[in-house]
Amino acid sequence: MSETIFTKIINREIPADIVHEDDLSLAFRDINPQAPVHLLIIPKKPIATINDITEGDRELVGHLHWVAAKLASDMGFAEDGYRVVMNCGENAGQTVFHIHLHLLAGKPLGWPPYTDRMKQA
Ligand code: AMP
Repeated sequence: MSETIFTKIINREIPADIVHEDDLSLAFRDINPQAPVHLLIIPKKPIATINDITEGDRELVGHLHWVAAKLASDMGFAEDGYRVVMNCGENAGQTVFHIHLHLLAGKPLGWPPYTDRMKQA
């Protein structure tokens, strides 16, 4: 797959507000936050979309959720609650084709978490 901006963040070619790093993953603050806390948790391995996750990636994808829970605990909003979401493809509005968990916290979050982008015909 072609390199995305997230690979540049992993390689420190562009700056980011990094809040967690380990062998498998990186987490940093979203540049356009949609909540008081808006983190992105990404695997260091570039995987374009959920559709590209293989059997061998199962542990890695689980690891991203473990990082989400750890950050929620460490940053003090685990008990208040938060949302973890991963967009896949055009209809979900995915814009960066390197899978990432959005972790949103710090206020009550509405549901459903979207507004229609296309008017009904
Ligand atoms: P998605 O629409 O699910 O693909 O989400 C991509 C997210 O990446 C958006 O919320 C963007 O605001 C965020 N984003 C794009 N470029 C950067 C960047 N350089 N640093 C931090 N977040 C970014």
